Amino acid sequence: MERKSDISGFHELSPKKRLELVKAFAELTPEEAKALGKTGALDEKTADMMIENVVGTTELPFGIATNFLINGKDYLIPMVIEEPSVVAAASFAAKLARPAGGFTATSTPPVMIGQVQLVGVKNPEKAARDILAKKQQIIDYANEVDPCVLVKFGGGMRDIEARVIATPAGKMVIVHLLVDCRDAMGANAVNTLAETLSPMFEDISGGKTRLRIISNLADKRTAKSKAVWKKEDLEKASKGQFKGEDIVNGIIEAWAFAFSDPYRATTHNKGIMNGVDAVVIATGNDWRAVEAGAHAFASMRGRYGPLTKYSKDKDGNLVGEIEIPTAIGLVGGVTRTHPIAKVAVRILGVKNANELSEVIASVGLAQNFAALRALATEGIQKGHMRLHARNIAVMAGAEGKDVDIVAAKMVGEKRIRVDRAKEILEEIRK
Ligand code: NAD
Repeated sequence: MERKSDISGFHELSPKKRLELVKAFAELTPEEAKALGKTGALDEKTADMMIENVVGTTELPFGIATNFLINGKDYLIPMVIEEPSVVAAASFAAKLARPAGGFTATSTPPVMIGQVQLVGVKNPEKAARDILAKKQQIIDYANEVDPCVLVKFGGGMRDIEARVIATPAGKMVIVHLLVDCRDAMGANAVNTLAETLSPMFEDISGGKTRLRIISNLADKRTAKSKAVWKKEDLEKASKGQFKGEDIVNGIIEAWAFAFSDPYRATTHNKGIMNGVDAVVIATGNDWRAVEAGAHAFASMRGRYGPLTKYSKDKDGNLVGEIEIPTAIGLVGGVTRTHPIAKVAVRILGVKNANELSEVIASVGLAQNFAALRALATEGIQKGHMRLHARNIAVMAGAEGKDVDIVAAKMVGEKRIRVDRAKEILEEIRK
C-alpha cells in the first residue's frame, strides 16, 4: 500500500476499519494489529466516543499506594503510571508520616478563572474601570442565565477582575471571570460562560472579544498539605545507616537547592508530579491541565521554584508542606464515563472535588519527600536499578520466580543488560 496519510473519510470508519488501514500503512504484523485493536475495561464503543479516529486503546499499570492517612481518614490511593518505584515510594513516605498523624490538608473553594480578551479598545483603562463598576450586575446575570448549570450544584460566578496588559499587539483589556465549579474541573463550563458574557464586555468597552477560555493557572483553586516526619523514624527506616538529624538536614538542603536553582527545581517538581499525575490519570482527570497549572504556579514568585517547602519543627523533626493548583473534578470530562476512573474514585471514597484535591496534594508531598530522602541519603539508583533489572529480566523472557533470580544476579554483578539476562536465564534453565 502507498504510504498516504490524507485518507479521506477516515473519521467515518469504524475503529476496526481504521485499524485495517493503519495496519496496511505501517505494515503491522497481525500480532501488532491485534494488540492495538484489543480493548479492555474501556470498550471500543466508549473509547470511540471519547476521541476521534480511535483504532484501539492502550493500557498502563494501575497500582495502589497504601498507608495514606489524610485529615484523620485512611485512603488507598489509585495510581496509574508506567514508572517503577513511584507507588512504592509514595506508600513508604505515607507510612513514615503516620506516627506524627499523617497528612493535614486543606483546599480553597473550587474557583477557576475564565479569561476574556478584549482588543481594539479605545480607552482600555477606562473600559477596565467600567467593567468593574458593573461587576455585580454581570455576576447576577451570569448566575441567572447559568448556561452550564453550576448554581444548582452550589457553584456559579463569584467575582470579576479586569486589568490592562501591554502586549506586542498593543494594549488589551483582560477580564477574569472567577467561577466556582464545585465538583467539575470546569473547562467546558467556564468556556461557555466566557462566551455567553463576552457581548456584555464588548458593549461596555467598545472593543472586540477574541479569546474566551479557561486559564490553566488555577491559582484560586489550590490544595495544601502538610506532614511531619519524625527524625527517629527516619533514622530507623534507614536501618541505622544515617542519623535522623542528618536525613532531616539533607532533605532541607535538597529543597534549598531547588529553591535557588531552576534546573534542580524542575526535577524536584517532576518528582511531585509523578504522584500527582498518577492520581489525576487514575481518576480520569485532565493531567495536561494540572501539569500546566503546576509549573506556572511554581514560577509565581518571578522565578521557577519548588512546589514544596521543608523546615524543622522545635524537636528537629522534618516538616514538609505543599501547595498546588488542582484543576480536577469528579463530574464532567471522562471522570464518569471511563469505567476504571469510576472505580478509582470508589476506591478513594472521596465525597467531592475538594477532598480529591487534598488527596492529590498529599500524594505529591509524599512522593517528593520519598525522592528527597533517597537522594539525600543512599541515592535513588540502587532502588531503581532493582526494578530496572526486573524489567530487563522480563524483556529477556524470564517468567515467574526466574524474574527475581535473574534480576538479583544482574544487580549483584552490576551488569543490567538484556544479553546478560538471557545468559543467566539459560544457566538457570539448564
Ligand atoms: P463538563 O462540562 O463535562 O461537566 C461539568 C458539568 O457537570 C457542569 O456544567 C454541571 O452542569 C454538571 N454537574 C453535575 N454535578 C455537578 C457538581 N456536583 N458540581 C459541578 N457541576 C456539576 O466538564 P467540565 O468540568 O466543565 O470540563 C472538563 C473537560 O474539559 C475535561 O475533559 C477537559 O479535558 C476539557 N477541556 C480542558 C481545557 C483546558 O484548557 N484545561 C479546555 C477545554 C476542554
